[in-house]
Amino acid sequence: MTGLATPDRVLAVGAHPDDIEFGCGGTLARWARDGATVIMAIVTDGSKGSWDGGRDQVELVADRKAEQEQAAAVLGARAVVMLDHLDGELWHSPELRTQLCRLIRTHRPNVLLTHDPWRPYELHPDHRVTGWAVTDGLISARDPLFEPDMGIPPHRPEHLLLWKAAEPDHWEDISSTWATKIEALLCHASQGETTMDAADQGGTRRDEFEERMRLHAKKLGTPAGLPLAESFKKLKP
Ligand SMILES: [Zn+2]
Repeated sequence: MTGLATPDRVLAVGAHPDDIEFGCGGTLARWARDGATVIMAIVTDGSKGSWDGGRDQVELVADRKAEQEQAAAVLGARAVVMLDHLDGELWHSPELRTQLCRLIRTHRPNVLLTHDPWRPYELHPDHRVTGWAVTDGLISARDPLFEPDMGIPPHRPEHLLLWKAAEPDHWEDISSTWATKIEALLCHASQGETTMDAADQGGTRRDEFEERMRLHAKKLGTPAGLPLAESFKKLKP
């Protein structure tokens, strides 16, 4: 129920820059530190991630890409793959499933992580669609009669971990990488006024953000007896 052995290869797929850090940043940082090759894939370009209706979206996309690269470096990830779909306009389609299948077959992760598509009342359409595209893409990646013309052998990850799970049944201890998770989240400076409500990087708002995150991680870890945790639904592909 807690603590997978450090995997060799990990692929985390989030809808937007910063989703992965919120969902599993502490876990990825620990695995990377302990020798795992971590790949982060972001499905959309993050072009709607601002409360400011006048924000230049070309600039915003460039900023968010740079922030994602910084956060990945903080976590110790090997690479960031940007799929660059339009933020907020992601539709579940055969083409998207094929793209996720290709991503999984290419990077061949032992552990695959993404949004929980079964989570009730998940408001953001990109989170729902990404969850479905990854889980459906996983079936295509695993079974040899799917995508026969892709030219990449099938691949079956050992574990699928879904963050923000409706029914968590797996926990990872993030006590030793807590500061790294927070540092990675704070790389997403453009999100200071939106998802993080921590616009300045120093002073009280940063402290308030970290305290809010700490209380949440503590709450997630309570059922497993862990001081600070990320929780998941674990599925066997
Ligand atoms: Zn998101």
